Amino acid sequence: MKRHEFRKDSIRSIIENPFYAGMIARYPRPKFDTEDNIEHPENIPSPNVDGKRREILALHPGQHEALITVAQWQAVNDLRHQKNNTPIATDNGKRIYMLSGIGRCWECYQASGHEYSLRGSTGGKGTAYYRCAYQHDSASKRTSSRKPRPTGLNLVPAEIDLALAKRHASLRADRLESQVNQLVSRLVIPQEWREAIMAYYLSDDGMGEFEREGYNLRQSLKRHRDLYLQGHISKRDYEQQARFITQRLDALKPSASPEAREILPLLDSFASTWRQLNNGEKRAMLGTLFAGLYFDRDGELRHILAHEPFGELLGLS
Ligand SMILES: [Zn+2]
Repeated sequence: MKRHEFRKDSIRSIIENPFYAGMIARYPRPKFDTEDNIEHPENIPSPNVDGKRREILALHPGQHEALITVAQWQAVNDLRHQKNNTPIATDNGKRIYMLSGIGRCWECYQASGHEYSLRGSTGGKGTAYYRCAYQHDSASKRTSSRKPRPTGLNLVPAEIDLALAKRHASLRADRLESQVNQLVSRLVIPQEWREAIMAYYLSDDGMGEFEREGYNLRQSLKRHRDLYLQGHISKRDYEQQARFITQRLDALKPSASPEAREILPLLDSFASTWRQLNNGEKRAMLGTLFAGLYFDRDGELRHILAHEPFGELLGLS
């Protein structure tokens, strides 16, 4: 592949780039190699990046004028994801399993109450599967000693375990993951979270910065109220001051910033935001939303353990 050839991928990188929507994205950077010969840069090999090169690590409002709105950028990328024939020529990373750490085996949980996690693996034909850790472990034990035997005082024969091991199958990753995608797409971000989310968009410090700035104003508001209550200023003066301070407090809110308001379309549709995440990001978010997702031998999602308030937001509790 020639380096500067114009291909399908070239279009994708333009469409995907949030720069045109007025934002600056932070991508993974190649590691600087101290072995590189700075005197002869032509000898420095192309640096490699850990993980996905196009993975957006953070988005911030840029100083430049946007050609398109964030909503347009969002809509175009939604469309692109729906087409589902993303060229993957430049993706060389291993598949990341979004359910690892969260996916659990319903068969084992029902039979013994024990938690066995589902592990992702890729089959011979490149199809991605999840398999129960218990099934995997018992399969490896069986090869060493085929005969079921009672152990110690616990006379429960190992046959029962073998029967349980048989009640397992390799579960197709796409089937499991599409159920989770559907489930999470139901999530609606509450209105009252929006100020805090916009604050994090504007600053890594989140609401902290806005609260510090608002502190003096709120102190001043309190002082005026005390003065009024003690009869030192008139009701009219107090109300005038209160209105003035409240206006300034409102202007300090993250939502007063036009840059922050640009991300509101992303919050309005969590479903489309979810679609834009890669598997690693999805996995991280699933850890926030759920304690466990249990799948049976047919790959059916049977039981959901959600962290609150997400269970409520998803209509589960
Ligand atoms: Zn199991």
